[in-house]
Amino acid sequence: MRFLSALAALSLTTLGFATPAAAATVTKTPTARGYGGAIATVDADATAAGLEVLRRGGNAVDAAVAAAATLGVTEPFASGIGGGGFFVYYDARKHRVFTIDGREAGPATMTSTYFVNPATGLPYAFDEARVSGLSVGVPGTLATWESAARQWGTRSLSSALTDAAEVADRGYTVDAEFRRQVTENAAAFGQFDATKALYLPGGAPPAVGTTIRNPDLADTYREIARKGTGAFYRGDIAEDLLATVTNPPVSGSPAAPWAYPIRPGRLTASDLAKYRVRHPAPTRSGYKGLTVYGMSTPSSGGTAVGEALNILEASPLDSASTVEKLHYYLEASALSFADRGRYVGAGTPQSTLRKLISDRWAAGRACQINPDKALVKPVAPGPSSCTPATAAATPDTGMSTTNLTVADKWGNVVEYTLTLEQFGGNGMVVPGRGFMLNNELTDFNFTGTQGTFDDPNLPGPGKRPRSSMSPTIVLKDGKPFLAVGAPGGSTIITTVLQIIYGRLELGLTLPQALAAPRAAQRNTAGIQAEPAFHTTYGPQLTALGHVFGPDAPEIGAATAIEFTRHGGQLAVAEPVRRGSGSAAVVHPTS
Ligand code: GLU
Repeated sequence: MRFLSALAALSLTTLGFATPAAAATVTKTPTARGYGGAIATVDADATAAGLEVLRRGGNAVDAAVAAAATLGVTEPFASGIGGGGFFVYYDARKHRVFTIDGREAGPATMTSTYFVNPATGLPYAFDEARVSGLSVGVPGTLATWESAARQWGTRSLSSALTDAAEVADRGYTVDAEFRRQVTENAAAFGQFDATKALYLPGGAPPAVGTTIRNPDLADTYREIARKGTGAFYRGDIAEDLLATVTNPPVSGSPAAPWAYPIRPGRLTASDLAKYRVRHPAPTRSGYKGLTVYGMSTPSSGGTAVGEALNILEASPLDSASTVEKLHYYLEASALSFADRGRYVGAGTPQSTLRKLISDRWAAGRACQINPDKALVKPVAPGPSSCTPATAAATPDTGMSTTNLTVADKWGNVVEYTLTLEQFGGNGMVVPGRGFMLNNELTDFNFTGTQGTFDDPNLPGPGKRPRSSMSPTIVLKDGKPFLAVGAPGGSTIITTVLQIIYGRLELGLTLPQALAAPRAAQRNTAGIQAEPAFHTTYGPQLTALGHVFGPDAPEIGAATAIEFTRHGGQLAVAEPVRRGSGSAAVVHPTS
């Protein structure tokens, strides 16, 4: 992960393009300017893979699939074929934005009490639900890659998988962030021999500098490259996946005891065989003359970011100071989260979604913001009559996930966020297959959170859990201006919102907007802030009535591309958080 192992020269024999190999050397630079194609990911190997595809004439979709397949090897805890995600694509020829919903789906037999222990009538503890077969949804990542490659790519999915298999065979080098992710999950990983064998060599997290090879994953990738994705959804890989879910391969000698029974899940062969990606229309809203496209349900990202931007657009920011602008940012975010909690889930009607991102709705929410006094949190969902009211909050966990942004020389753009939910998903590597399973179904609310109102995010048959993933593409005069996305559970929404706001309203450059200290107000009593934000703005925001705490060491490691004049591209990855990311362009300028 992250280091270019021995130059990480991608062997290009299988790239599907004519010219043979030249080493793809990408140093880990968080900002790159130039033209002819651009990419930003969290990982140097993945950026190198995508850049090489762009250099050889592939388009943004080809490069995104190549980078994502590599991330499945080198960022195995945040992504991979055992997980799901959301792919947003701007097609330069059609001047249109398309999406792929590759979210995991629950079993057909899932009911609203799926996460309630029948023996006690109480919801399972989060970790009990997570490290189990119950939390695993049908993975959508491979179907997403296939759908993207087929519809918009010029290169086969097989080529991407074959190249990434070489990375898995050759290995990648453990860095401090990788080690941290294993250390934090060592108890869960230690319950399963296949996970221990890969990620707890000798019973402990691997030392920084260790090379990790994953020949089982290389073979799995090659098998799918040969046989097609049917091997995963209906063939022998499906069988191994189902065996792991329905009969968790709990170690006879766990590294440490686990506090809970490790329960079997209920996915069936039919659930896997019936899985299909969806292609919902993107959410679309306006912000000061720009058009903001985001991900629709089952993600709440598009509506939450869109609604908050609409509220900000309706707020008197013109002569506001930075602190006043941040006050509005925090209030708009809390109001938007209240509406997300009440209204947004996989089954929300389109009419409701459209209402939530309408200017009319935003006007009713913006007038609740008092310029001199923070609202008491949690605030009630709308519709509102400009009278603030309080309600119950719906907290969310998780800081994992990965994100990538790609643009090509034709002007196509991909913003893609993918995940296993928690770092390392449910903790299980499928034995003999080398990939980890997601725990995405824990993104459902285990019991109702909306009092006497229906909770839109309770489990249901075949349902997809609500997500916060917010891959966003902003157009100016009908052309791409900015593409951005981030990891971080429900702080994904606030991170993407804060970056867009920072760039458009706070006078920051894009690299500054990604680096700026973050704060997330998700309609909870306290703002979750990074220490630098708390120190810099805490006193003045507290004077306005904002409440801080608990702080978080880091929030979100984003990636983005800004489209500058004359075809210029500015690719930006996170400069510090999560060990920093990697940006590159095909033709760099100074
Ligand atoms: N499962 C989360 C979501 O879809 C993302 C996981 C995370 O970033 O922690 O919103």
